Amino acid sequence: MSEAPRPFTDAEMRTLARYGESRTVESGEVLRRAGDRTGTLFVLESASADAVREATVLRAEAVVASFAPRSPLGEVNLLMGHRAFLTVRVTRPGQVIHIERDALRRLMAHEDALARLLLMTFTRRREHLLDHAAECLEIVGSVDTARGLALRSFLTRMSVPHRWHEPTSPQGRTACDHAGLTAADLPAAFRAQGVTTQVTPEFVAAWWGLADVPGSGSPVLDVAVVGAGPAGMAAAVGCASEGLSTVVVDATGPGGQAGTSSRIENYLGFPAGLSGADLATRAALQALKFGAHLLAPARVTAVEPTADGHQRVDLSSGARLTARTVVLATGVTYRRLGVPDEEEFLGAGLHHAATAVEAGLVAGRPCVVVGGANSAGQAAVFLAQHGCHVTVVLRSGDLRAGMSQYLVDRITASESIDVLPGATVTALTGSIDGLEVHLDRPGSTGPLAAAGVFSLIGGTPHADMFDGERDATGYVLTHPHVAAPRPGALMYETSQRNVFAVGDVRAGSLRRVAAAAGEGASVVASLHEALRRAHQPA
Ligand SMILES: Cc1cc2nc3c(=O)[nH]c(=O)nc-3n(C[C@H](O)[C@H](O)[C@H](O)COP(=O)(O)OP(=O)(O)OC[C@H]3O[C@@H](n4cnc5c(N)ncnc54)[C@H](O)[C@@H]3O)c2cc1C
Repeated sequence: MSEAPRPFTDAEMRTLARYGESRTVESGEVLRRAGDRTGTLFVLESASADAVREATVLRAEAVVASFAPRSPLGEVNLLMGHRAFLTVRVTRPGQVIHIERDALRRLMAHEDALARLLLMTFTRRREHLLDHAAECLEIVGSVDTARGLALRSFLTRMSVPHRWHEPTSPQGRTACDHAGLTAADLPAAFRAQGVTTQVTPEFVAAWWGLADVPGSGSPVLDVAVVGAGPAGMAAAVGCASEGLSTVVVDATGPGGQAGTSSRIENYLGFPAGLSGADLATRAALQALKFGAHLLAPARVTAVEPTADGHQRVDLSSGARLTARTVVLATGVTYRRLGVPDEEEFLGAGLHHAATAVEAGLVAGRPCVVVGGANSAGQAAVFLAQHGCHVTVVLRSGDLRAGMSQYLVDRITASESIDVLPGATVTALTGSIDGLEVHLDRPGSTGPLAAAGVFSLIGGTPHADMFDGERDATGYVLTHPHVAAPRPGALMYETSQRNVFAVGDVRAGSLRRVAAAAGEGASVVASLHEALRRAHQPA
């Protein structure tokens, strides 16, 4: 695993010592065991230590990295409060600075240069874990099944280090034989604690502590952000960086719709574009650096005012948060094609995103992309780059009606992409080994054969957890567009006092990454005002 970019200087060691306590450690002492919650930052003063991947039924124990004096131990999960992937064992006795969780948060907020150095070190180490040391969690599963695809997408989106083996691969077959597993047991996880069958995202989240609700006795939060897409993450970064106690809750993981985009090219500051997964990881790190707490996967089922003027946020797990203010940043969910037996094809040939995971399933084979907006255009270009012959099926008569010109130009210039305007999908038949896409289109000569169908036809708002005012199509109304505007209501405030809505879920929003992030950043001023106002009677 990568070392810190350089050993800490004398001055940096003195600063670190101010936030923690120096203790003597002995050779062989375990500072942290894989699976422990990683609240404490250890900084080696004179001691040395190894990071060790513990033995699993598939592999013997291995040293992943050795750390010399004047280096920090740990990686990104230290900031996230998640459990450790590796065990850390002292190899040379000496002194170690222990910096507890709250002190670490203060350090990250107040010591800018050190915070940047630590963040860079932790991020590099997570990248190293993702690339080279992921055997602490090995999964055997098939991305051709809905369960397998859901798990793989979750692990990728949450940047959980792991190795994925298809059951037909030599490693997958060996692992299944070793543990006596059948297809019904998959996906199965192999880790130091043993073998677990039928693994779900919820299992992994519970295991690593990804969805742990802050202690039940915790005080009332300043802000609960519902949704960790661009709008929610921008709000969380703004709130946490300005010292507000902030929790972000997401039903799947950070990134939102943007997290499913193969390449976002119109976001300021990234001339070569950036992938949605990259944007999600960067945003999560930034929010966590400032002390926001991220819960995922955790679905919010209700946001209701309490008698004492707070907001109660109910989670589907039965857990509950209490906050002075709530930001709804729940975006939209993909719209169904409306064809018979649609659910059965989901994840088994029919997809609502075209990331590297889905592209890997169909590479080199014909595909159909349904939709006429930017998301459909990006998917078509991305799949063509993976060797697919792509047919874009759109209801309107012209690509330019709903797509940015740069994508229209790329599609028009590509020999691998055909466009069928004025067409509607009426049915899907076949199986995951080969779908037939039936169209309602004048002059259609029969179904299109496709290895994958990518349905990107827009969405409907995610606002069922909210009882306040919405427009006829379900989008949340904010002031001044609510039926009876309240005097003194704040920007982005909904009809429910102290509940705000930003991003795609808000009626009238622009449905773009930059616009959503802008609204998320802007709502912070309203939240400050609402918190100040909270001391006054309603
Ligand atoms: C494939 C694709 C490509 C795109 N490409 C571009 C592009 O290149 N440029 C561009 O500007 N825009 C693009 N867009 C649009 C852009 O992604 C959205 O406008 C933007 O993501 C909206 O951000 P948001 O935070 O408002 O909502 P979302 O991104 O939709 O995020 C909402 C989040 O809320 C969570 N959530 C919903 N309900 C609940 C609940 N009950 N409890 C907890 N969590 C919940 C969801 O899991 C989700 O993570 C693209 C969209 C797609 C689908």
